[in-house]
Amino acid sequence: MLELLRKVYNFDIAIALETVATNPSSFLYKQLKPFIKEQYPNDYKFIFVNNSTVQDTVLTHVLETLQFLDIPKEFILVITNQENSKLFFESNSIEVKQSTLPGEFEKGTHVPLFNIDNKLCPYVWAGFHVGPDGRMKPCCDYYGDYFQHDGEYLNVNKNTFQEILDSSDMKLLRSQFRKGIDPEGCKKNCLSAPKGKSTRYSLSKHKLQNVYGEIDWEREGQMKFLNGHLSNLCNLGCVICEPLLSSTVAVEELKKSKYKNVKQDPKYKELQINLNSVNSDSKFWRELDNHIPEIRSFELLGGEPLLNKNVIKLIQNLVDSGHSKKCMLQVVSNGTQFPSICDELHKFEQVFIHLSIDNVGEKFEYERYLSKWDEVEKNIHKFDDLTKNHQHIKLHFAVAVSTLNSYYLPELLTYLDQYNYDSYYFGDVYTPEEISLNNLTLEAKNALINKLSKFVEQFPKLDFVLNLVENTNLVDGMDFCKFIQEKDNMRNLNFMNSHKEIAKLMGYSNFNN
Ligand code: SF4
Repeated sequence: MLELLRKVYNFDIAIALETVATNPSSFLYKQLKPFIKEQYPNDYKFIFVNNSTVQDTVLTHVLETLQFLDIPKEFILVITNQENSKLFFESNSIEVKQSTLPGEFEKGTHVPLFNIDNKLCPYVWAGFHVGPDGRMKPCCDYYGDYFQHDGEYLNVNKNTFQEILDSSDMKLLRSQFRKGIDPEGCKKNCLSAPKGKSTRYSLSKHKLQNVYGEIDWEREGQMKFLNGHLSNLCNLGCVICEPLLSSTVAVEELKKSKYKNVKQDPKYKELQINLNSVNSDSKFWRELDNHIPEIRSFELLGGEPLLNKNVIKLIQNLVDSGHSKKCMLQVVSNGTQFPSICDELHKFEQVFIHLSIDNVGEKFEYERYLSKWDEVEKNIHKFDDLTKNHQHIKLHFAVAVSTLNSYYLPELLTYLDQYNYDSYYFGDVYTPEEISLNNLTLEAKNALINKLSKFVEQFPKLDFVLNLVENTNLVDGMDFCKFIQEKDNMRNLNFMNSHKEIAKLMGYSNFNN
């Protein structure tokens, strides 16, 4: 068949739909990937042949894979004697030649499961997320308890990666997705998220772009992606943060301890105050070494990951071994660090830097306690320069939206516009609930709607924040005031000085006098 086609067409690969239908779901992607180019000769074709009936899901899978690989339609040709295939591809503006090619096409022995419309979440198949104490979930947005196997918590300090991937909880989650059941823990932040909100799930094809096509959805998990806090070591005590995610907040928490020897406080153990929860000689790092060749997507979270010497060592090892060239690296940083390893980030296949910038100036310093805005701003410029020098390094701003910064978002977004960022995105702070937009005074609600509505045309993503504000529970502001007062007393700060407008709207100016 190939010889016949070669006489007529300029192509590298011709694939039978019958072969796609009987091989693992990653088969087509893996076949096409080596032939993807920036530009194709004018007469070049990716050829698909088909002589017998295949299911509609195979046709859709072929189309979705071609779209995922960004192959322009003019370089695709389908040769088929099947009316169904002809109609499908023609209706999607793909050239079809009606013909019966001689011979039998090669068939595999698999029953693939295609992820049509991205209905199955890739995070459940591609790896897992490690919490700061070593326990795990499929991703950091999964809402609810950490995962278990037969009633026992899984932990990277004691379980192998394979045990985690094959655990009863992970298998249950995959089977729920396969059956079309929305898993409970996926609803809050993804599957039932408010309209217009970008979620980890909706962005998954993009965020896992270098491993997505290689997933075999009919199989159990494969270790291609690792997302983890790896430690709660952090130099800041952000108002929105919690002890398990910041060693600074954890130390503050323990200052309230009634125990003379704080190490005897049960909270001390619970909070894992060793500043390096997944420590360097733990099973985790040995396991990671063994799995490095398979893992091609890393998402490193904090604490502050760029302060963690194990994280720096991991990035350095990936660079030194050359494996970085095949890896996507994502780092979520508070912007206070720019270690020398940052100058080697261009050695990765792709890099996303997510900077947590929720406000500017003294408001930033209040919200991200112990930060120095001047230093953070210098680092934003350094990351910005990296994106200008290396197209494959992208800068993102992660904006955690709470009562503290909501009023000032238009000013923040105007400020961020000077940078060469790829995107900014909002995450709503729902804990601590005292500072969540779910709980506002009537005055704050009205003022926020009034102000943000004026900027929604300029910054359409504000619609998401407006939606939260419009659906808020009206409260008297007492919980907010008590929460802020406790922080102010402990930190010797005054919210009124930095956040005058919102302090007034939430009743803090009267409360604090
Ligand atoms: S649907 Fe959302 S919460 Fe569930 S695993 Fe996927 S990304 Fe995580």
